[in-house]
Parts: sequence; structure tokens; C-alpha cells
Amino acid sequence: MNRIEADLAIVGAGIIGASAAYHASKRGLKVALLDAAVPASGTSGACDGYVAISSKKPGLMMQLAAASQQLYPQVAADLRLDPELEPAGGLLICETRRVREQIEGQVAAIEAAGVAMPFCEGEALRRIEPHLSADIYGAYDIPGESIVNPYRMTLALVDGAIARGARTFWHTKPVGFDIAGDRITRMDTTAGEIVARNYLFAAGVWSAKLGTMVGIDLPIVPRRGELVVTERGAALARRYLQSGLYIAAKADPEYAKRDDPLARLGHGFCLEVNAQGQCIIGSTRAFVGYDRRTTPEGVAAIVREAVKRVPALARVRMLRCFAGLRPYVPDGKPIIGRSGRLKNLLVGTGHEGDGISLSQITGDILADLAADRPPRIDVSYLSPDRFAAARLAAA
Ligand SMILES: Cc1cc2nc3c(=O)[nH]c(=O)nc-3n(C[C@H](O)[C@H](O)[C@H](O)COP(=O)(O)OP(=O)(O)OC[C@H]3O[C@@H](n4cnc5c(N)ncnc54)[C@H](O)[C@@H]3O)c2cc1C
Repeated sequence: MNRIEADLAIVGAGIIGASAAYHASKRGLKVALLDAAVPASGTSGACDGYVAISSKKPGLMMQLAAASQQLYPQVAADLRLDPELEPAGGLLICETRRVREQIEGQVAAIEAAGVAMPFCEGEALRRIEPHLSADIYGAYDIPGESIVNPYRMTLALVDGAIARGARTFWHTKPVGFDIAGDRITRMDTTAGEIVARNYLFAAGVWSAKLGTMVGIDLPIVPRRGELVVTERGAALARRYLQSGLYIAAKADPEYAKRDDPLARLGHGFCLEVNAQGQCIIGSTRAFVGYDRRTTPEGVAAIVREAVKRVPALARVRMLRCFAGLRPYVPDGKPIIGRSGRLKNLLVGTGHEGDGISLSQITGDILADLAADRPPRIDVSYLSPDRFAAARLAAA
């Protein structure tokens, strides 16, 4: 590279950086995209691909999810590589009447957002998902949701950006930044220097380190999730299946402290069937630093709980398991926006378990900010400045 100039230099080619690169290139910006390894080598290549509204917090997060869901088919149709986007729909499972009562508030919020989700039980439920256990009390059917292959989507977005002139640099990372006043004037990388009008940090759970390099607090904490993959041909579900308990595990950082072995693992059942006919089954939630190993307890719980809900899984071979690190922010919201301290620094990270769902609207908003246009949704509430402001308020 030696020395290049760009309108937008993006650090991190997970689904967020790749989406920003695609949307910015589409707006005619000159993009430089770099990754310490290769695209989708972080969490976006170690997760499943539910494009959902139903698991989001009511309010801005649901609004962002709805906007992202609308963008998905348009973007997918514009890409040269097929991201395997399937409008499969979602099923929010209530194992018992108690689970239904526990998620009443969430259901009311989704319905208030205009999403139709009829409650199905008995024969009606079995018609939608014949393989679900007869012990299941019922489920909310959400036909508008989708499943995407997150790994392929990330690669397809990078390819879409390249097709519009973006320059990419793999196995490349920043080693230093020159700062003059309230602007970054130059980024020094392992492959040379980049001088850009705007810089974007989109390095997932590794973003905190980048923040430290420029004196910005980005308090991202890795939250590990484990998944199990079956052999092909095990197409045991049409919809994306998610337990109401998954939402409880996701929303409550104290969940793992409960006196229940499944809660301690942060377990919440989910299952999708990918384009190859494999079931991808999850998942757990644990704060264990940057440890990406799977655990015998986590994998055993995932398989055992899945078989309870989809008994035919007992006859299917499990092929492999893996884990990814969700970029969790202690206040439960992603970080999207322009830094107030460094006026040409944008941040797009901290999407926890929602990065695949929110990737399109996040990339769209960041591209607008990089092009000096007002974004279609006001994200000032997600500003990277909120941590410094909270520290000042607490002092
Ligand atoms: C088990 C599991 C299941 C999930 N399921 C879903 C789901 O169904 N739906 C959903 O919406 N979300 C889901 N998620 C969440 C989603 O996967 C993440 O929110 C999303 O992948 C985060 O993307 P990212 O681009 O921010 O980070 P990443 O994908 O981690 O990308 C960051 C990139 O930055 C690079 N990088 C790091 N440091 C540097 C550096 N110093 N210089 C240059 N590059 C650097 C890395 O190599 C990496 O490629 C799940 C997550 C897990 C773990």
C-alpha cells in the first residue's frame, strides 16, 4: 500500500465494517477496508444468521431492526455473491404458559411496532413445524423474519464494495494514529499509511483496543456463545426457532447468576436450518474474556435442550461445534455514530447478539455520516461519546 488516500478508512471487515464499506462505496465514496486477518474471521464467521425484530429491545433497537430487515432483500439482490437470504420466518417458542407470561411485554412491544405475530398451539403449530415436540405449549409465528448466511453475507458485501472501487487490505492493522486538534490526520498500518477524510472503527470485540490507541473509551466486553452443527439433510425446521427464554438470557446480564444450571450457562434455545440443510443449534452466553473455545457443559446443554424441543434431532449426527464472541456493551446498546472528540472518527460496534440483523441499517447510517448526509434514523442515543459523558456525570 505504501500511502493511500480515501474518503473512508474502515478498520475491521466483519459484517458491520463490510456493510459500511458496501453502503459507502454505493454512495460514491472512496473506501479503504482493512482487516487484521481476513473478512468474517471474527464473530461474523462464528454465529448464526437470524434477521429478526422479535429479539430486539422495544424502541430504537426495534426501529433499527425493522429498517435493516427492509434493506436486506434490496441489498442481497444487488450483490454478485448469493448470501443465502431466506424469508423463512421466525417462531418464538413458549415451552410453557409461564414462558408466555414472561415475554408478554416483549410481544406487546413487537405488535405495537406493527409486526403481526399470531399465537399458535396444538395442530395449528404442528402444521407450521411438524417436528416440534407435542409438549410445547405454543409459539408466536412471525412470518416476516429471515435467515441469512452471515459468513457469505459478509464476503458478498466486501465483494459489492470492491465492485464499486473499494480497496481492501487483509492481514493489515493500524499501528498508530496522528492526531491534530480534534481530527485524525493519518493512520499508520502494518502495510503503509492511510490518509482519510473519515475513519471508522468496526472491529467487533477488538474495538476497545483501537479506542485506546486514540484515547476514546469503547467499553466492549466479549460475550461468548456456543453453537452446534448437524449433518446435512436434517431439515427439521422451516422457521428460525427461538425460545422465549433466549430473550430472557440475552436481555439480563445477571441471568447467569441465577440458581439454575441452564441459566448459569446463559442457555437459550435457538435453531436454524441453513441452505445446506444442516441444523445450527444454540446457544449459550458467558463472559469469559476472549476465550473462543467451546465447553463440554455448553455443548451438552445445547444438544439436550434441542432434543427436548425437536425430538427427531436425537436421530441426527452432530458434526461440529464452535463459539463466537458477541461484542457486548454494558448498557446493552450498540455504539453507532461520530465521535464528538475526534470529529472525523466514526464507530460501528457493540451489536452483541444483533449484529447480523442490524448490519444493513448500521452500514447505511455510517455511510450517510461519512458522506455528510443526515442518517435515515437518528442514532445520537447510541453515540460513542456517551461513556465519557457518563464518567463525567459520575465524577
Ligand atoms: C453464537 C452467536 C450467535 C449469533 N447469532 C446472531 C443472530 O442470529 N442474529 C444476529 O443478528 N446476530 C447474531 N450474533 C451476533 C453477531 O454475530 C455479531 O453482532 C456480529 O457478527 C458482529 O460483527 P462485527 O462486524 O461487529 O464484528 P466481527 O465480525 O468480529 O468483525 C470484526 C473484524 O475486525 C477485525 N479486527 C479486529 N481487530 C482489528 C485490528 N486491530 N485491525 C484490523 N482489523 C481488526 C477482526 O479480524 C474481524 O474480522 C450471534 C453471535 C454469536 C456469537
